[in-house]
Amino acid sequence: MAATKSKTKTLTKWDEDVAETDLTMDVLNSMEQGILVWSDGGVCRMHNQRILSMLELSPEAIYPGITRTEFLEAAAARGELDKEAVETAQARFARRAPFSFDRKMPSGRTVTTNARPLRGGGFVVTFSDVSETRRNADDLAKAKAKAEAAELKALKTLAAEQAWRNEARLLSDLDEWLQCCKSLSELFEILGSFMTKLLPETEGELYIYSNSRDVLDGACAWSGSQMHDHILPDSCWALRRGRHYHYNAQEVSFSCDHVKEQSGVQDVENYLCIPIIAHGDTVGLMHVRFSSETSANMNESARRFALQCGEHISLAIANVRLRDELHDQSTRDPLTGLYNRRFFLEALRNELSMAERRKQKVGILSFDADKFKAFNDNHGHDAGDMVLRAIGEKLNELFCNGQIPCRFGGEEFTVLLPGTDLEQAKVAGEALRAAVEEVKIRYGSGLLPRVTISVGVSSYPEHGILPQDLLNAADGALYAAKDAGRNCVRVASNSHEE
Ligand code: GH3
Ligand code: MG
Ligand code: MG
Repeated sequence: MAATKSKTKTLTKWDEDVAETDLTMDVLNSMEQGILVWSDGGVCRMHNQRILSMLELSPEAIYPGITRTEFLEAAAARGELDKEAVETAQARFARRAPFSFDRKMPSGRTVTTNARPLRGGGFVVTFSDVSETRRNADDLAKAKAKAEAAELKALKTLAAEQAWRNEARLLSDLDEWLQCCKSLSELFEILGSFMTKLLPETEGELYIYSNSRDVLDGACAWSGSQMHDHILPDSCWALRRGRHYHYNAQEVSFSCDHVKEQSGVQDVENYLCIPIIAHGDTVGLMHVRFSSETSANMNESARRFALQCGEHISLAIANVRLRDELHDQSTRDPLTGLYNRRFFLEALRNELSMAERRKQKVGILSFDADKFKAFNDNHGHDAGDMVLRAIGEKLNELFCNGQIPCRFGGEEFTVLLPGTDLEQAKVAGEALRAAVEEVKIRYGSGLLPRVTISVGVSSYPEHGILPQDLLNAADGALYAAKDAGRNCVRVASNSHEE
């Protein structure tokens, strides 16, 4: 300004004022920003031309003399500011405090408003187009969020992959163990301890249908769960519906009766019942309870994994059953269900070597139905079969705890009595003879005539130390019983020592 004054010494004061005002306006109009000056009382004192294009206004919309209230309300009416922004701006003006905010213009541009109080009273307000800056910032934020989301997704995929590998390893461990199981009881024992490792966030039980199929027997439990001795098939929705059942207290679902009746279990919120299916037959039920702390997400993966475990267990049970069936077929007699001669001879050999080591006695009964040919001839083969079956049932009823009754062939039977001396074996033979004599068999509309048996008894070591010697001795005694008139018991006479 000082330089200007020195150059314009010849100008009048008025000329100087006009020139200065023109200069100021020139400077203001050449600026990139829109500029507006408010008086202390909130009236527009001046503005530059740029404000028109900046705020997309017609020349009538802004002029010296318009009040700040009119100006702000018009902007709010165009939707560039909301009510709250207008109130904030007015409050700031009243307190003579600087402030800034963004206007979203109808064209989509973003214009930022910066208001600064002037020393001599009033405010100077600048309006700058920040669309590009904001857009860049937006793009940057979006790109950052996208990168973060991608990273999170990769981490999740990695975690899922690891969990999947872990599950696959556990399942293959389980399979390996279950494949080694020789019997269902061994399988249940292994499962009881393995499930704690497989499904650590859960507790539960496994139930297996009894032979009569009217109940399921408790087979094993894990993580300290108290299992029922038996449950009824009707007490479980999974068994009733024929597919797995997920109970979740948060959803509309009905709790199974076997869960409600379970001792030591209260307010179960989340559980899974999985039917165990072997070769198309439902053979049991796996019940898995999830702890309430387990998050919903965990539950979903635990649920999926529990179902997988159920499938593997089903397969293992099916395999053991198949093996049992095949073993049974080769060791059992199909008519009576008793062990066959092959199994008996094997068992006798094992028992004798054990008896030798333990210095124990072994009793053997050999018996044969009396006049059975005539019975068949008189009543038919079917009736004869019924008698043989009834004898089988009686044998199973009388002999247990390691005593092995067997159908040796035709209408001849044997019983292996471990730890039984000759006298005790004779008593057992007599009890058997008397019991068979009492058996009543309904056939058609009446009863079949009684069938009697003749029994021979031998004993280890008195009558031999080899299986065949002992069997021969018992057979000899059996013939003696036949000779003595049948329906009686005879003990092998000539001892091994003699
Ligand atoms: P004994 O008192 O001397 O033993 O006379 P028995 O007629 O019983 O003697 P034998 O050994 O001559 O006859 C055995 C009969 O048992 C012959 C056969 O018809 C019958 N039998 C063998 N196996 C079966 C079977 O599986 N079912 C039926 N119904 N009969 C059988
Ligand atoms: Mg015979
Ligand atoms: Mg006979």
